[in-house]
Amino acid sequence: MRLLIIEDDKDLNRQLVSALEDAGYAVDRAFDGEEGHFLGDTEPYDAVVLDIGLPKKDGITVLEEWRAAGHKMPVLILTARDRWSDKVQGFDAGADDYVAKPFHMEEVLARLRALLRRATGHATSELVCGPVRLDTKSGRVVVDGNPVKLTSHEYRLLAYLMHHTGRVVSRQELIEHIYDQDFDRDSNTIEVFVGRLRKKLGIDMIQTIRGLGYRIDVPSAAHGG
Ligand code: CA
Repeated sequence: MRLLIIEDDKDLNRQLVSALEDAGYAVDRAFDGEEGHFLGDTEPYDAVVLDIGLPKKDGITVLEEWRAAGHKMPVLILTARDRWSDKVQGFDAGADDYVAKPFHMEEVLARLRALLRRATGHATSELVCGPVRLDTKSGRVVVDGNPVKLTSHEYRLLAYLMHHTGRVVSRQELIEHIYDQDFDRDSNTIEVFVGRLRKKLGIDMIQTIRGLGYRIDVPSAAHGG
């Protein structure tokens, strides 16, 4: 999953980016409302963390413009501690959730997990597909109870496909959701990652749909567990 952080406080921006990268996300950053608005307008983020008080264009305006343009990605706004009006304005502008400053990083992480799973129709932070369990909270993947070690790109790819089970995901879509914008993207590596994942998971879960992309089927209740 790929996230965008828009926060003008440099230290806070850095802390957010590093915590979210550690949690397994691809993360882009912006330090003012104009740059942030542009990125959210042109790149397909799975969720955005948006500060309200921003230079060049305030967070409420950024959000209103995205929503007016039809962008539906979940947005978590960062509000000043005692500004209840920020929250009201934020929700009215199309925010999905908020965290008031100062906040605990764990709360931001938990709220983002909740937004991401709601947006993709999942009920819990653990994604289960047959014998494979992916815990979006700890970033751990187990197969039949045995831990599997994945690189960050392998994890992001598996997490994206498991968030979107039952749907064919193109290589281009995977590229857009597992790399940050500064990464030197190469669509051939997707095939390499899928090959490695199949090997590491030891089961035939990721299907290649020729000419279209990849799909993980929705696990049927019949062979649950
Ligand atoms: Ca600010």
